[in-house]
Amino acid sequence: MLKPFRLLRPGTVAEAGEELERHDDAAAIYAGGAELLLLMRQGLLQPEYLIDIKHIPELHGIRRENGGISIGAAVTHWDLERDGEIRKHYPLLAEAESHVGNIRVRNQGTLGGNLCFADPHADPATPLLVLDAEVELGSTRGSRVMPLDDFLLGMYETALEPGEILARVRVEPLPPGWGVAYQRIERFFRPTLNAAVAARSGGNVVNEVRMAVGCVGPRAVRLPDLEGRIRGLTVEDAVEAIRGARELLEEVLMPVDDLLGSAAYKLDITVVALERALRTSMMGGMGD
Ligand SMILES: Cc1cc2nc3c(=O)[nH]c(=O)nc-3n(C[C@H](O)[C@H](O)[C@H](O)COP(=O)(O)OP(=O)(O)OC[C@H]3O[C@@H](n4cnc5c(N)ncnc54)[C@H](O)[C@@H]3O)c2cc1C
Repeated sequence: MLKPFRLLRPGTVAEAGEELERHDDAAAIYAGGAELLLLMRQGLLQPEYLIDIKHIPELHGIRRENGGISIGAAVTHWDLERDGEIRKHYPLLAEAESHVGNIRVRNQGTLGGNLCFADPHADPATPLLVLDAEVELGSTRGSRVMPLDDFLLGMYETALEPGEILARVRVEPLPPGWGVAYQRIERFFRPTLNAAVAARSGGNVVNEVRMAVGCVGPRAVRLPDLEGRIRGLTVEDAVEAIRGARELLEEVLMPVDDLLGSAAYKLDITVVALERALRTSMMGGMGD
């Protein structure tokens, strides 16, 4: 059962930051509540104040900005999955969003809540790493921008400082001629593993490639070393290089045993998922 709490409704990001500073550990940011209310019902978290950020206009909207797109932290998975601009120019993200949990979770949960909770078994971070996403954090001190890669520190751990909230996520489209693919293996609604790949082919050669894997270890990880190893190879040689990269993958992904699978199993399917995603993206993938 939920313990009583006070609901605060700031009108701006700075006001939300002010409430966070004022109430410190006694307060929690409340967006969709998909994760937060579960923790509260289980008694794992008992904040005296919930800072409801859903009514802050700055946290809404999917806007075109400087050739890219800016997504408000309070935009839901469902909105992202259906948005025409996202589907057309960021199909990797739209595809990943369409797999989140179930329709109730997608309707309730926000992109910001997902990234801030930093559950390793999540979908959006993996494609966003391939798209070189940046996050904008706001507080009473103003705002700062950092790569998503620096924001995700580990299991349930982010670079948010006290008094800060995630305001927006920025992504630029891939240059023309890239194919993309998203692979996901799931259990109990949650992904056991996901892999996102973007590649530009030159005939049968991997001219450009970006790869990320999520859910295997503490956080989603971009794979620059593996990308370097396969750039310039034919698809078949690239697949062989992925198969031979088990040691590298183990080192960077830090796979863990959990209810969704053993570390060894996750490493095995990482190789298969990357191979499949690379082949699909090299054939043109899911979008432009
Ligand atoms: C049954 C179930 C299945 C699920 N399956 C999947 C899945 O398959 N894939 C997947 O990716 N996710 C899955 N999820 C997780 C869900 O999608 C995310 O938890 C959801 O996006 C969280 O967003 P929210 O707005 O509800 O966050 P909330 O629950 O409101 O908040 C989550 C945490 O983030 C903090 N927070 C929220 N917004 C901000 C912000 N802007 N700035 C700073 N802190 C903030 C809150 O204080 C809290 O600590 C599942 C969840 C459930 C319950």
